[in-house]
Amino acid sequence: MNSENAIKIYKDFLKSKGLLYTQPREIVLKEAFSANWHFSADELTSQMHKNGINISRATVYRTLASMKEAGILNSVDFGHGHIHYEAPKTKKHHEHISCEKCGTVCEIEVENLTKTINSAAAKTRFKNIKYNIRISGICEKCT
Ligand SMILES: [Zn+2]
Ligand SMILES: [Zn+2]
Ligand SMILES: [Zn+2]
Repeated sequence: MNSENAIKIYKDFLKSKGLLYTQPREIVLKEAFSANWHFSADELTSQMHKNGINISRATVYRTLASMKEAGILNSVDFGHGHIHYEAPKTKKHHEHISCEKCGTVCEIEVENLTKTINSAAAKTRFKNIKYNIRISGICEKCT
């Protein structure tokens, strides 16, 4: 999904909630889609402040949460006690492994994971299967 598609989906989402697509929302969306790392709301806010964008932390928090609700951002839990976000690019489906000491995150592809989960879940006749796995360990630097 590129940012143009995301804007369209987000606008529809906001309209359905009776909300407006405001300039701060657009700024946060563009920033989120140009970030090529897994950012937390705090990290994105600091990045924006560094770039000279004057925006409040609360606005960034709220906007990211609503973008997640609209389905245009993925959230990932690295066990840091806060959420990280990731824009779904045309990248392959991947999982994350995070270091329990320094928080470094690497992306890994787990062969056949989705297929294995889907075929196991199919036995329950559940639909719209989603999953969430958290992989962690100690990175090379920290051992
Ligand atoms: Zn974090
Ligand atoms: Zn580490
Ligand atoms: Zn990722």
